Amino acid sequence: MDYYALPIANLIDQFSKLPGIGRKSAQRLAFYVLDMDQLEVEKLAASILEAKEKIMFCEICGNLTDKNICHICKNESRDKSLICVVEGPRDIIAMEKSKEYKGLYHVLHGVISPMENVGPQDIRIKELLNRLGTDEVKEVVVATNPTVEGEATAMYISKLIKPLGVKITRIAHGIPVGGDLEYFDEITLARAMDNRREM
Ligand SMILES: [Zn+2]
Repeated sequence: MDYYALPIANLIDQFSKLPGIGRKSAQRLAFYVLDMDQLEVEKLAASILEAKEKIMFCEICGNLTDKNICHICKNESRDKSLICVVEGPRDIIAMEKSKEYKGLYHVLHGVISPMENVGPQDIRIKELLNRLGTDEVKEVVVATNPTVEGEATAMYISKLIKPLGVKITRIAHGIPVGGDLEYFDEITLARAMDNRREM
């Protein structure tokens, strides 16, 4: 790192902490930033800080939002009898792009993973159960990823919800095992939702 003046070395260090950014890309980004107009750099820095300061979890579903309640939970035209359970906020974006689903969501913010010391109490399962207290919810669709952890989490949730008399379904396969919801095309996701089956 002696090749670089300290502020450049620091910038490269910070960029290289980002996912998918190796040393070489980090160096390219750092030099790019140094070439940018002062005003553009200020806008970039300000937008990072603003996003971090203003974005929070929706009080109801756990989606990312800049209000207490997200735009999906607030939308009166969504089907409130249906809750789709996903691992992360990015899965909501993927599902929304498929334009197939009109219900509500619940973000777990993780999956049960004994290997990584993540138990049921570490993800938002209790919050999900709390939402089922009213008669409004008729069906919970579990759309966790088709990985070992995603399937185990789906089974766990299914066992908790079945006794409550709420229908519980799992989105269909067709989604490759080990896949990540976020990367499926819209048609695959729409079909997976259409062909969901009761657990
Ligand atoms: Zn919400």
